[in-house]
Amino acid sequence: MTTLIHRLKQIRAYIQTAEITYHRQPNSVLLLAVSKTKPATMIAEAYQAGQRHFGENYLQEALSKQQALGAFDITWHFIGPIQSNKTKAIANHFDWVHSVDNLKTARRLSKQRPPHLAPLNICLQVNISDEASKSGIHLHELADLCEQVAILPNIKLRGVMAIPAPSFSFEQQCQPYKILYQAVKSLNKPELDTFSFGMSDDLNAAITEGATMVRIGTALFGARQ
Ligand SMILES: *Cc1c(COP(=O)(O)O)cnc(C)c1O
Repeated sequence: MTTLIHRLKQIRAYIQTAEITYHRQPNSVLLLAVSKTKPATMIAEAYQAGQRHFGENYLQEALSKQQALGAFDITWHFIGPIQSNKTKAIANHFDWVHSVDNLKTARRLSKQRPPHLAPLNICLQVNISDEASKSGIHLHELADLCEQVAILPNIKLRGVMAIPAPSFSFEQQCQPYKILYQAVKSLNKPELDTFSFGMSDDLNAAITEGATMVRIGTALFGARQ
């Protein structure tokens, strides 16, 4: 077995164990394999082992991998910062976008999503730790932006994505996810069913606080250059 397949199995087992430990439904946490900077051959290898959801941050890099992997039935997620001049390609070539943090971007994606494709699934990125350097809306902007995005055609608002500031105790890792989860639940919109929470270093905290998708790069594909 290769290192990648070994890690993939380990992460699946880890997620399953966390689902049990934290009283989550079996298979309620989807593994999103974050393949940025990694070659298409690694994506193909994970695909052969059953992985279907892949996340990319850089448009040009993603498009060339998509072309190489055209025959594969992959669900592509865009998770990186979005420049206005990239929305058209994103709207055409992805199934999900996790990093929407303003109305203008949402409107462009809506307008540019080809109507013959299924609606583009959208998560709003929330800067839950209020870090000046991070993308994402502030928590207090969430309710209004949800209202405005939910009505746009050709896209489907599904939930939120967060990348909290690193913290090293389990309780500290949980806190921001707990706050954001409650904020979304308080909006009373059952269609907001997606919590894109958790990366290689805070999986357990994310899963205990309601993650439905965990975005794993390093722990799966190894360190990036
Ligand atoms: C790179 C990236 C990840 C994966 O991070 P790892 O620490 O490598 O698991 C997850 N989410 C986003 C938004 C990323 O940019």
